[in-house]
Amino acid sequence: MEAITLVLLAAGSSTRFGMGTRKQWLYQGHKPLWQKVADDFVNAFGFEHVVVTGSADDLDHMRRFGDYAVVAGGATRQASLRAALQEVVTPWVLVNDVARCCLDRIMVERVIAARDQAACIVPVLGVTDTLYLGDDPVDRTQARRIQTPQLSRTDILKRALESPINHTDESSAIRALGESIHFVPGSTHAHKLTHAEDLNHLACLEPPAPETRVGFGIDTHPFEQDKPMKLCGVALESPFGFKAHSDGDVALHAVIDALLGAAGLGDIGEWFPDTDAAYAGADSAPMLEAVIERIRRVGLAVRNVDLTIVAQIPRILPYKDAMRQRLASLLDLPPHRVNLKATTSEKLGFIGREEGVTVHAVASLGYFDWTQEHT
Ligand code: MG
Repeated sequence: MEAITLVLLAAGSSTRFGMGTRKQWLYQGHKPLWQKVADDFVNAFGFEHVVVTGSADDLDHMRRFGDYAVVAGGATRQASLRAALQEVVTPWVLVNDVARCCLDRIMVERVIAARDQAACIVPVLGVTDTLYLGDDPVDRTQARRIQTPQLSRTDILKRALESPINHTDESSAIRALGESIHFVPGSTHAHKLTHAEDLNHLACLEPPAPETRVGFGIDTHPFEQDKPMKLCGVALESPFGFKAHSDGDVALHAVIDALLGAAGLGDIGEWFPDTDAAYAGADSAPMLEAVIERIRRVGLAVRNVDLTIVAQIPRILPYKDAMRQRLASLLDLPPHRVNLKATTSEKLGFIGREEGVTVHAVASLGYFDWTQEHT
């Protein structure tokens, strides 16, 4: 399939979807939905050129899944498509929305086979319900429901999308340019995933695989006189705190790195640079919450967290319960999935000399189980 590039639009924010994650990140086995759709098309038709759009904060993560070209989408479908087309050099382009996640191979074959018929080949379905426009019934035999994927002549589609008018599909943009479109029969299997309840009607979907991902985090901070001390988001009675750009909550920093590690999302320094004035003296709890939110948005779920605080001083024991509760609440986990241990270094090294504290943390994550979250 040398002459056709597959464009997969997967930059949507899933505002109508109504789950903690976004639909392009619902895991199917071990693949996020966007990768499953791209792979299904490639396996069925042998596309050599594939461009996937993603939201800007997903790009790095998406690029770690395979060798598809991933480009930043825009605020609208049309803006995303325009960005994708900059990468397209083949004479034709087949555009599919990730929401159209169940490939109907026969239908797509019909679309591709008709490619010489017009500037844009469009799968359509008729309307079987009685149809009104405002207060007046209209002739439903003339009505058509437009589906994707549509196959377009790349040069014509590029010109059509220069229009400032926001078109919701390629055929309407190409038609507005005065170019030809050609209809082929669509498919009732190519149902769209818009709302969570649509998950019940999409036979091609499979549940996420059982998965345990482990991440490790470690952090050390020296003490600093006359600074409030915070550990695990809890304020400790202490004449000194931790020297740091932020509030110096060395335990939350270690937990954040463990979570990012398990998720494959880098490290705390990439997320919250200590050169950024926004994090000067910052409370570390919102940083942890932002990381949890990010993990959810890429289809993952935290299973458990365990950490060890290595400190000669301060004494951790009086605060252990409060710290565990606070961590559980920040992580949105029941307390039995959060464990906290404290030890000393037996007076050895910088910890033994009471110069600072080190925290080690381990976290495990699985795929978000979307099959349990809808009816
Ligand atoms: Mg730190």
